[in-house]
Amino acid sequence: MSAAPQAPSRPSQHIAIAGAGLLGRVLAWQLARAGHAVEVFDTAPGPVTRGATGWTAAGMLSPVSELECADENVYRLGLRSLQLWPGLVQGLPEVPGVPFDDTSLPAGAVASSVPVDLRERGSLLLAHRGDEGAAARVVDLLAGKAPAGHAPRRIDLQELATLEPDIRGPAHAWLLEGEGQIDTWQAMAALALGAEQAGARFHWGCAVDRAEPGALHTARGIVKADRVFDVRGTGARPQLPVRGVRGEIVHLHAPGLRLNRPLRLLHPRHRVYIVPRAGDRVMVGASEIESEDRSPISLRTSVELMAAAHSVLPALAEARVVFTDTNLRPALPDNLPTLHTEDGLTRINGLFRHGWLIGPALVEQALAAAGLLTAPLAPSGQATPTGAAAPVSASLSAPFAAPHAAPQEAST
Ligand SMILES: Cc1cc2nc3c(=O)[nH]c(=O)nc-3n(C[C@H](O)[C@H](O)[C@H](O)COP(=O)(O)OP(=O)(O)OC[C@H]3O[C@@H](n4cnc5c(N)ncnc54)[C@H](O)[C@@H]3O)c2cc1C
Repeated sequence: MSAAPQAPSRPSQHIAIAGAGLLGRVLAWQLARAGHAVEVFDTAPGPVTRGATGWTAAGMLSPVSELECADENVYRLGLRSLQLWPGLVQGLPEVPGVPFDDTSLPAGAVASSVPVDLRERGSLLLAHRGDEGAAARVVDLLAGKAPAGHAPRRIDLQELATLEPDIRGPAHAWLLEGEGQIDTWQAMAALALGAEQAGARFHWGCAVDRAEPGALHTARGIVKADRVFDVRGTGARPQLPVRGVRGEIVHLHAPGLRLNRPLRLLHPRHRVYIVPRAGDRVMVGASEIESEDRSPISLRTSVELMAAAHSVLPALAEARVVFTDTNLRPALPDNLPTLHTEDGLTRINGLFRHGWLIGPALVEQALAAAGLLTAPLAPSGQATPTGAAAPVSASLSAPFAAPHAAPQEAST
């Protein structure tokens, strides 16, 4: 069921959004249901055409694991987003389990109509015997960077077997209790549908050449607005020095496989993760290559990813390779996100490998900075793994609250 539109936080504004990827859809949905007149422009031909990086992503919500290559700000934005995702998902309409026609996917994988699959069961780090050095480097790094109580917790093989009976082979395991995952295919489709139902107008197949305060220069002419959001990812060049970082993934169909949470294999040579998806699918990813080559997955990446996946989930032996994908992560020179606000213009970019992890919190900060939020301050630290407060620079807002969400704590 879709959330009821909420009262505008201030008189309704005309908002123009360049880019209908992950950020553009979250913005459109939040702003439209807050009562603003929202128009979104994207080069993609339609709402369920895979083009945006958001479609390709695994959807891991891993603030601690990502500390391997991210800073404290990304970590805090991640904790904040973990607080926000349940309210966001609660208000979204149901969509097909696989929201596009794809004959390569087995019919059983295409559920009719489902709520967006958001899981908060933690995630696992695994290592094989002989890989202790590589594992210790990562686990020690995470333990050193994460606040007390958030560090990876070592578990024995018996506990691992209880949590994940189909995992066989690794000699070492750690649980990250506060982490989660979201089905990115379902969420991308539901966000666009929810935004449209709330009144947002999408202009598909319409490129934006330039975003400036109060105006978008589109292929169909100049669009004036009270505020412009530029969230074109790698398409925001030359206005931002953003580059694309190639990532390749594989989807496997594995009927009967039991996997409840994402896992990462701490491998000495490559990063490999496996994420369960609806319809007996698992997603295995991902390469990270400094290249803007969007061509199909290489043999080398396929072999490495699938061999690593099979080494911890032997039941995958008879899985079928049903889908592969390649996309570009939008990254700035420092690999950190940027949020720029001026009169009439907001730019968000550089979400790199953390878009699903930090997107909602960044959107929240962007709306607050643009004066589009007037709601009470959020209860800080509410949903953090151990209750440790996570300072945030923006408050939980009316647009983010689901219609039946718990009341907010008093504002200051
Ligand atoms: C293999 C892989 C795995 C990933 N896994 C995870 C994960 O597990 N967890 C996580 O948090 N993140 C993950 N990510 C990262 C995440 O997908 C990105 O950070 C996120 O999608 C970025 O969102 P965005 O809205 O900035 O860009 P996008 O989602 O790419 O959206 C940009 C949009 O702008 C449009 N556009 C571009 N140019 C123009 C133009 N000129 N005019 C109009 N529209 C334009 C595009 O069509 C697109 O729709 C992964 C990424 C990859 C590639």
